[in-house]
Amino acid sequence: MRPRREISISREHMAELAEHAERTYALESCALLLGAKGAVKDVFFADNVDPRPEQFFSIAPDQLLGAYRAAEGRGLEVIGIFHSHPASGAAPSDTDMRFMRTNPVVWVIYSGQTKEFRAHVTPEGDGGGTETVTVVVEGAAGAGAGAGAGAGAGAEKHKDVR
Ligand SMILES: [Zn+2]
Repeated sequence: MRPRREISISREHMAELAEHAERTYALESCALLLGAKGAVKDVFFADNVDPRPEQFFSIAPDQLLGAYRAAEGRGLEVIGIFHSHPASGAAPSDTDMRFMRTNPVVWVIYSGQTKEFRAHVTPEGDGGGTETVTVVVEGAAGAGAGAGAGAGAGAEKHKDVR
């Protein structure tokens, strides 16, 4: 049996990601998750430059490079890729699965429909399929912590909400 896979992320970062997704609603949003040892320490928001942003996302090479440089400068790594599904669930699409195989980091997906976060990874050497990664919310108090928790929390500190 494989060890349990987890990615931990603070409540604030989850709220920021949910907000980023809701702000760009109807279009997929994307970000890179910087961290170490399975813990997200910083979020690098990116623009979706895909020609069909309602259904797909692409991050421009210079932003990607910027994220890697930002990570390196802080002794971190790009440990995850975040994107949203504005009008569907948080399961990876066929396209996601194809790209997950070439980018074997944790893929965190936020659903604008269910307001849930789910994380997935493509196990190394696996011919196909994905494995669910548990999202551990840091700083979440008590029960109810987990996927979806924290969405919307902390939004008050941002001045640019709609
Ligand atoms: Zn997707």
